[in-house]
Amino acid sequence: MPFVTATVQFQGIGASPGVAVGHAFVLDAKKVRTPKVRLDLKEVDGEVLRFKTAITLSDKQLEDLKDKLSTGAENEHGLILEAHRMMLHDPMFLVEVTRLIKEETINAEWAVRRVCRRLRHQFDNLEDEYFRERKSDIEFVADRIVRNLMGEVVDQELEVPVGAIIVAHDISPADAAMLVKTGKVGAFVTDLGGQTSHTAIVARARDVPAVVGLGKAADAIRAGDTVAVDGRRGLVLVNPPEEQLALFRETMRRQLANEAIALKTAELPSVTIDGVRVRLNGNIEFADEIPSLLAHGAEGIGLYRTEFLFLDRPAAPTEEEHYQAYKAVLEAMGDRPVTIRTLDLGADKVPGKAREKEINPALGLRAIRYCLQHREVFRAQLRALLRASVHGNLKVMFPMVSGVSELREARSELEACRSELSRQGVPMGRRFQVGIMVETPSAAWIADRLAQEADFFSIGTNDLIQYSLAIDRQNRDVAYLYRPMHLSILRMVQHIVGAAKGAGIPVSMCGEMAGDASATLVLLALGLDEFSMTSGQIPTVKRIIRSVSMTEAKAVFEKAMHLTTAEEIERFVKAEMDRRFATLE
Ligand code: PEP
Ligand code: MG
Repeated sequence: MPFVTATVQFQGIGASPGVAVGHAFVLDAKKVRTPKVRLDLKEVDGEVLRFKTAITLSDKQLEDLKDKLSTGAENEHGLILEAHRMMLHDPMFLVEVTRLIKEETINAEWAVRRVCRRLRHQFDNLEDEYFRERKSDIEFVADRIVRNLMGEVVDQELEVPVGAIIVAHDISPADAAMLVKTGKVGAFVTDLGGQTSHTAIVARARDVPAVVGLGKAADAIRAGDTVAVDGRRGLVLVNPPEEQLALFRETMRRQLANEAIALKTAELPSVTIDGVRVRLNGNIEFADEIPSLLAHGAEGIGLYRTEFLFLDRPAAPTEEEHYQAYKAVLEAMGDRPVTIRTLDLGADKVPGKAREKEINPALGLRAIRYCLQHREVFRAQLRALLRASVHGNLKVMFPMVSGVSELREARSELEACRSELSRQGVPMGRRFQVGIMVETPSAAWIADRLAQEADFFSIGTNDLIQYSLAIDRQNRDVAYLYRPMHLSILRMVQHIVGAAKGAGIPVSMCGEMAGDASATLVLLALGLDEFSMTSGQIPTVKRIIRSVSMTEAKAVFEKAMHLTTAEEIERFVKAEMDRRFATLE
C-alpha cells in the first residue's frame, strides 16, 4: 500500500507565543529500564556505597551544567538545577533508599525508583498545578541517578539542525536549557506540561514558540515530519497541506520582519509626533526574561509577578531566596526602574498543603488579603525587598487593593520591617515608591482617596475587566464578554487616570490591554504615563505611538466615547487603526 501522509492536528496549551514551521526532531526519551536484583547480605554495604557514589556524580553533573548554563540574569536555569540538587540531598530520600537496600536487600536502582514512586504519589494528591508539575522533576532526578548507577551517558549534547521543531513526551529542564542555548530550536512541542512547566518557562524566556500538554502528540510525530506550531493558540499541525503551510510561513516571515524592526527600534524613544512621551515597560515572571525585554526596548519593569517564585517548591521562599531573586533582577536592570509586585497568592496559588477549596477563589483570600492574613509570608518578602533596594531602582506595589485600609495596613507592615532591619543594622537603599494595582471596581471608584496615599497607580485590566463585567477570566463560556473596549471599562480607566492626575501621581497600565496594539490609540488619549507589557508587544506599540499625534488620538477617543456597545467601539477604533497602520500586525 502506498504511504500517504495525512495532516494531523493537535490542540495543546499555548505556552510560548509565536509561529514556527520546521522538521520534527524527536527526542528519544526512552525510559531507562530499571534492573531489579535481590542482593546477598554481603553485597549490601557495597550497594549503599554504589548509591552514594551515584549521588555524588549526579551532584557534580548538575553543578557543571549549572555553571555552563547560568550567566548573569539567566540564572533561572540555575535555580531549577539547584532545586534538583536539593532533591538529591534530601535526607528523607537518602535515608529511605539506604533503608530499602539494607532491609529489603534490593539493588540501588530498584530502591531509587520505589522511593521516587512514593514521592510522586504524594504530589498527585496536591491540588495546586504548580506543585503537581514538580512531579516531573522527581522523575528527572531519579532518571539521572539510575543512569549513573548503570554507567550510562547523561547530559549528552544534542546535534540539532537549525529551525528544528523539538518533539518530546517531556523535556528535562537541563535538556531544554541546553537546547535553547544552541539557538537552533524552532519550537518545542511536548505531551506533558502546562503554562508553568520548565519547557514553557525556558521557551518564553528565549522567545521560542512552544505548545505543551498535547497528550499523545510525541508518539504520532515522526522524525522529519513537517510540523507547523502556533504557540499562542496551542495548535500543532503535522504534515499540513501546502496552502496551510504557506499561511504559517507568511506569519513566520512577518514575525521575523517585525522582530528585525523591533531590534532596530529598541533604542528609539516612545514619543508621539507632537512630542508626548510615554514610557514602555516590560512585564516579567522570571529574571531570565530580562535580556529579551531589553532587546525589545523596555525602559524598565512595570510588573514583576513575584508569586512565580513559588513555582519550584511546596513551601514559601525564605527571605534570603526572595532577596537573591530581587537582587538579580535589580542588578540586571541597572538604574532602570523595576516595579516589584508583592505576592498575588491565593485562589489556586497557595504555598504548602492544599487548602480547602473556596467557592469563589477569584473573590477569595488572594493577593494583599492573603498577605495581610499570613504575615510571616508577607514579612519575609517585605524584608527582602527593603534589603534588595540597595541594588537598583526599586518600586513596590500591592495587588488587589480594594480599600484604603488595606493600603494603610500593608504600608505599616512595610514600615515595621524597615524599623526592624534598621535596628538590626541591615543595609537598605533609599526610600522607594510604594504604589498599588488598581484592579477592583472598588479601588477604581475611590481612586481619588487611594491617590492621596499611594505613590503611583498601575491599572490591572485583566482583573478590572473580570470584576467589572462579572466574568470569570478563566471561563471559556463567557470569554466572548471579555471586552476591554466596553464603555464601562473605558470610563473606569478614564476615572482612574483623572484621579491620579488630580493628585499628581503617575499612572501606568500593566494588564494585557496595555500591550494590545488595537487599543494603543485609545490608551494614549486616556493619558497613561506608562504602559507595561510582554517584550514581544513593545515594538508594535512603540511604532504606533511614534507615528501618531496626541491630538489625533484624542479625536478618535472622543468619537469612540460617543458610541455605545463594545462591538461599535471596537469596529470604529479598528477602522481608524487600519486607516493609519495597515501594515502593522
Ligand atoms: C491584571 O490583573 O491586569 C494584572 C496585571 O495582574 P494579573 O494578570 O497577574 O492578575
Ligand atoms: Mg491582577
